[in-house]
Amino acid sequence: MNNYQNILLAVDFSGFVHSVAYKAKSLATQFNAQLHIIHVLDNIPMPDTPYGTVIPLNKNSSYDLLEAEKEKLIQISNELNIAPERCWMIWGEPQQEITQLAVKEGIDLIVVGSHGRHGLAVLMGSTAKGVLYHAKCDILAVHL
Ligand code: AMP
Repeated sequence: MNNYQNILLAVDFSGFVHSVAYKAKSLATQFNAQLHIIHVLDNIPMPDTPYGTVIPLNKNSSYDLLEAEKEKLIQISNELNIAPERCWMIWGEPQQEITQLAVKEGIDLIVVGSHGRHGLAVLMGSTAKGVLYHAKCDILAVHL
């Protein structure tokens, strides 16, 4: 097996996040690798996009939702001891942003859950499959 140097953990804050996170952390420790973390905002409209933006019809504004997601990322990064410069929150489409960041940051292993918010109905979730298909490095899909 390669000696991984940069590991990227992709989190969606589903109920499975901790099993995936701790697998990534223990691999980073084992390989003495830098651990990075990414959460892609795929369910929050960009606050300053005037046209074509879908506004959720509940009392939370996009800003509140964004702050809540940010808090979750900070909390898990602190638990895993990941430095702020290796924490990424990006608007976009998860499989695309995860694989693009991996190239940009010289990631050699991406860790995802086999499933996430989209549930356990299929063998492997759509993001996990998309990352596997598009990534230029190794992928670990933690079986959930
Ligand atoms: P899914 O394909 O949605 O069932 O999710 C499978 C895995 O992909 C999750 O366990 C996460 O590791 C990752 N993932 C899904 N959505 C996101 C997201 N928005 N940001 C970062 N990682 C994600």
